Amino acid sequence: MTKMTRKSTLLILLMLIFKLADAQFTASADNLQKHVFALAADSMKGRGVNSPESFKAADYIIKQFESIGIKPYNGKFSHPFSFKAGVIRTYGNNIIGLIEGTDSILKNEYLVIGAHYDHVGFDVEDSTEIVFNGADDNASGVAGLIETARLLTTTKGKLKRSVLIIAFDAEETGLNGSSYIVNQKVIPVDNVKAMWSLDMIGMLKDNQALELKGSATMLDGNSFFEKIALKYGIVLKELGSTVENRTDTYPFGELGIPAFAPTTGTISPYHKPEDDADLLDYDGMATITSFLTECAVELSGQPEIIAVPALARKAENFGKPQVFSCGLRLGIGSNIQNYQDDFFQSKKQFSGHLGVYALLHLASRFYLQTSVSAEYLTAKTAGGNLRLYSIYTPLHLNFDLISPAKAAFGQHHIFLFAGGYHTYHFSGRYQGKEPNFTNQFEEKDYGVSYGILFQVRKVQFGFTANRGLANVFSQKDAGDVKNISSIFTLGYRF
Ligand SMILES: [Zn+2]
Repeated sequence: MTKMTRKSTLLILLMLIFKLADAQFTASADNLQKHVFALAADSMKGRGVNSPESFKAADYIIKQFESIGIKPYNGKFSHPFSFKAGVIRTYGNNIIGLIEGTDSILKNEYLVIGAHYDHVGFDVEDSTEIVFNGADDNASGVAGLIETARLLTTTKGKLKRSVLIIAFDAEETGLNGSSYIVNQKVIPVDNVKAMWSLDMIGMLKDNQALELKGSATMLDGNSFFEKIALKYGIVLKELGSTVENRTDTYPFGELGIPAFAPTTGTISPYHKPEDDADLLDYDGMATITSFLTECAVELSGQPEIIAVPALARKAENFGKPQVFSCGLRLGIGSNIQNYQDDFFQSKKQFSGHLGVYALLHLASRFYLQTSVSAEYLTAKTAGGNLRLYSIYTPLHLNFDLISPAKAAFGQHHIFLFAGGYHTYHFSGRYQGKEPNFTNQFEEKDYGVSYGILFQVRKVQFGFTANRGLANVFSQKDAGDVKNISSIFTLGYRF
């Protein structure tokens, strides 16, 4: 037995003592199983977005909402939307139900409980359909959502804030359903105090714990969840203040709303055709659902739900370009010495550099980028091979082709830049010895440079062209020779 399992066994024993006395809710494993088997059936063909089977899944969810007796939000359960997946515009449909709170004031505030019901559809191999059933991902979460809604309707006045029950569509294509709800304010997002999204909750026994990323995005969140988890014999892990960005919590978190991601991880046959209903741990799902229902009731009655300062700050800066960033930068390319008098034709030689860069936002789409790098440059001169070790410092004015509003979801930029560079050669090799920087080679080079630079989240990559303006040789009779280099660059933001 490992240290971890010994610790969890002890915890579970302790928990069981508290549990039986205190747990308020008992979700039905049979209900959960029924929902998963319906949604992950082969006939649902993997619930690909905008497919006839995804309409069937939506109908199933709406029927459940109706039979439980929750209200359609704004008079209807279906809230269709369109979005772009790659180059194609397509359609999705979020299903939204409302359970009204009982407190005359708090009922105007909301908790959002969600789960995505779409999956990745099916493949065709040798004209046979291979269905990705998506039982754990995410029929399990939708089943938990429906069962949570059912339990919440039995609380008889205990629910103070209102709860929005949302089955998100188009999660697998890039969180499109949840992003639409948040960006288009389909629901009153300013009054949403906290949210969670159940995504893959069918493997509690195998995972031995419930992961709950984002638990600490709410003030005192960890102790709040730990206390209730104890009653249900649930071990929590992955607690913290990072909003999970691979599921529907992300758009809410970006807005500064405390967002939690309960999951039993990706240990099921994740995004494989084998993710089937008969593999899931329904008792575990029932425990998780009961636990989350009690969390919802408890939270709905708390006088205040406060986002931690870091989350609030992040939301404040949302959509604004980062003022300053820096990182590592590597360049690899070639250099050629341009003999303008034409008496010698040089060849392209290796050139590379490694250093740090800094990027400063000036105003609207303009940025200043500089770097300090150690450079290694080789050249074929008329007098033989030349190697130079140098310090290379470019300074560029960058213009962003992407407007700041569009770059919001992760700082994407396409920069066109132009400026200059300075190179100081501190050592080298020429004709078997140190080059003579006093009366043979110029110690400094400078010139103009320009190019294109892409930034995707933390990674920068691009192309820089440098054209020297200073002569390579300090000797007057050596001719007019200038460096021209072409460099591919790769950067990583700290
Ligand atoms: Zn999922």
